[in-house]
Amino acid sequence: MKDITVMFVPKDKIYPANGLMHYDTRIMEIREDLSKFEICSLLVHEFGHLDDLEDKEGFIHKELESISMSIFYPIIGTIIIAFKSLTPDRLKYYWERFKKKQ
Ligand SMILES: [Zn+2]
Repeated sequence: MKDITVMFVPKDKIYPANGLMHYDTRIMEIREDLSKFEICSLLVHEFGHLDDLEDKEGFIHKELESISMSIFYPIIGTIIIAFKSLTPDRLKYYWERFKKKQ
């Protein structure tokens, strides 16, 4: 995946949008006045737009695809990460971090 720059911008710069993905510069603009929950959801949503240039789908299809990503994929991603963390290396890593905080 190519680099993407995430910039937190004042509300007035992009309102009424909450976030914008600029494909030409690979800059993602996110409103800085939003809560962490909104920002996390928006980051996933805007990442969902990364393939818009290659896709031949219409605007509504692209929006629905990105909205579905921001609704479901954090949960799916969390479950996948949790299962993939059940390896000796990952468990040891977490155990070492846990011990350091005691
Ligand atoms: Zn969108």
